[in-house]
Amino acid sequence: MIRTKQLRHRFVETMPDNIETGVLYVSMEYATAAHRCCCGCGEEVITPFNPAQWQMSFNGDAVSLHPSVGNWNLRCRSHYFVREGRVIEAPSWTKKQIEAGQKRDKDARTQYLADKSAVVAAPQLHSRPVEHDRSSRLIGWFKSMFV
Ligand SMILES: [Zn+2]
Repeated sequence: MIRTKQLRHRFVETMPDNIETGVLYVSMEYATAAHRCCCGCGEEVITPFNPAQWQMSFNGDAVSLHPSVGNWNLRCRSHYFVREGRVIEAPSWTKKQIEAGQKRDKDARTQYLADKSAVVAAPQLHSRPVEHDRSSRLIGWFKSMFV
């Protein structure tokens, strides 16, 4: 069941300590979004933006996330779409679908990270230390989110 039917977006640089229910915090700086699970369980849900995970679109008025948010790691296992700020309940997954989804995500992430590290490892005429700095700060931020 979905209790939060709307997510108001709020663009932030870093995630606040207190994630409000019903608000989708979007950080372009860290290419990620955070909100409290829309089922009402109150768990924090982090949706990183990258080609292997989520894409965010902003139509000037409201934010959409693609693909759907599947909280199979949470006890509630809620599954919903965020379309132009509206939260639309999606069918819950069977165990089989969860396993297939997890494998697909893992493969996609592994591929994405392999592509990325190949780019970083390749000799470059124009090295970009700023990029490295940015990703280490991102990792630091994720760590702080999960302790
Ligand atoms: Zn939940």
